[in-house]
Amino acid sequence: MHYFLELFVVLVLGSVAMHVSDPGVASSLEPLRIDGNLSFHDVSLAARDFGNRYRLLPSAVLHPGSVSDVAATVRHVFGMGSGSKLTVAARGHGHSLQGQAQADGGIVVRMENLRGCETKVHDGEQPYVDASGGALWFNVLLECLKHGLAPKSWTDYLHLTIGGTLSNAGISGQAFRHGPQISNVHQLEIVTGKGELLNCSAEENADLFYAALGGLGQFGIITRARIALEPAPKMVKWIRVLYSDFASFTEDQEMLISLKETFDYIEGFVIINRTGLLNNWRSSFNPQNPVQASEFDSDGRILFCLEMTKNFDQDTAEIMNQQVEALLSKLRYIPSTLFQSEVSYLEFLDRVHVSEVKLRSKGLWEVPHPWLNLLIPRTRIRDFAAEVFGKILQDSNNGPVLLYPLNKSKWDNRTSAVIPDEEIFYLVAFLSSAPSSSDHDSLDRALKQNDRILDFCKQAGIRMKQYLPYYTMQEEWRAHFGDRWVDFARRKGVYDPLYILAPGQRIFQKAV
Ligand code: FAD
Repeated sequence: MHYFLELFVVLVLGSVAMHVSDPGVASSLEPLRIDGNLSFHDVSLAARDFGNRYRLLPSAVLHPGSVSDVAATVRHVFGMGSGSKLTVAARGHGHSLQGQAQADGGIVVRMENLRGCETKVHDGEQPYVDASGGALWFNVLLECLKHGLAPKSWTDYLHLTIGGTLSNAGISGQAFRHGPQISNVHQLEIVTGKGELLNCSAEENADLFYAALGGLGQFGIITRARIALEPAPKMVKWIRVLYSDFASFTEDQEMLISLKETFDYIEGFVIINRTGLLNNWRSSFNPQNPVQASEFDSDGRILFCLEMTKNFDQDTAEIMNQQVEALLSKLRYIPSTLFQSEVSYLEFLDRVHVSEVKLRSKGLWEVPHPWLNLLIPRTRIRDFAAEVFGKILQDSNNGPVLLYPLNKSKWDNRTSAVIPDEEIFYLVAFLSSAPSSSDHDSLDRALKQNDRILDFCKQAGIRMKQYLPYYTMQEEWRAHFGDRWVDFARRKGVYDPLYILAPGQRIFQKAV
């Protein structure tokens, strides 16, 4: 390479790595008095996320020393009026997929650094925990366990923040019993897009409370949440069984979630490509009979794995085993494929982290993640499976595919989350990884596969909803929200009229 050209490349790349922001932004923020600090250098970390595909550099990163820092900053930006193009994005753990927690040229608030909102557990007949919007669910769990308590509803992975998952829904195998995480919140403290600091609940500022739950960060920054707790189980029996027939698999799942006495957690996944860490990373399941598990020969067929747990402690082990046996006797899995394990409740809830550590050590965690999460109505799940698992998905697919039923009655339709209009619908999650080491086209191939799945849903008239939705045009967002759009847009006008918050969701564009 020519010397001058080489020098030029180094300088350009250097300016990205050590990005120094727009001096105009720095001076416009000078009057701001805060307990924490604003950083104008080293902002490039705030331009990354788990999806690893979008990089939008902010002008500044706020490390809030207090909740009033968050309010003062948003109030300041609001006070600059509609002539300013500055936006503000709360960043939880940055585990979004398409830049949703980024702010191009704006201010990113590092919620994990928020001080002055310590986790406080309240015992009593209806126990709850008050936690910072920037707290990781994992840390909240550890604090609750000290009191023998735990939140009721989870995500599969705990290294996500309270504010981040409550802005979506927070779904896992407990949602059929307790609803998603957004159905288990008593109260929120929120900084609106005008910089007001408000408490809200079903009784106080109820419109803002429901707007923020599943609200994709559009109506305010959640600085504190009050979350319902239950007595924490000590141990779980963790069970997996396999099916080769999709209809039996889903009928059994639906039967189990409809029973009064049933498992505590029910999920399922599709096994297409059985080789490689990337397809098996989603959990640390170690069956008591690993040889039998590894020797099971599926004859090249697609298999469906039903995964369940039952909580217990020393005193209830016997009765738990009887209940499990009775439940298993109702199922139609392949008889030789019953795999069981017993682990502590903490080990079970934190199961994905074990795999994260493994993937990180092999450089396979920080790779592009072209994930696609869909909520499919029950009446169309077989059509969907026949086309997608039968034709579109290849056995070169890189990553787990989750599939399990949820029930609408456990969701509150006053929140901003949108779901299909049927009592039972399925979460189908294509959790692909696209490491450049596997082959250069893996990202492109996964994205094309996602497009084919979405096209098929459109052609076949499947009225699905995207979970962790990603759209780039407002018409698409309108279609996503359907008849809920009018209310969504009205709430935006009330709580964030200048379109300052969460610009990375690309729903509303700040006009200058
Ligand atoms: P971020 O990515 O930082 O933010 C997400 C959005 O919320 C952004 O728009 C941001 O501006 C906004 N936001 C962040 N904090 C706040 C706040 N305090 N107030 C208001 N808005 C805020 N989801 C499930 O439901 N179930 C799962 O089992 C599950 N498993 C996952 C496993 C992995 C490995 C990963 C990477 C993601 C998983 N998710 C799951 C998705 C996850 O819930 C979302 O990506 C979530 O947004 C991540 O939280 P975060 O703290 O990283 O949020």
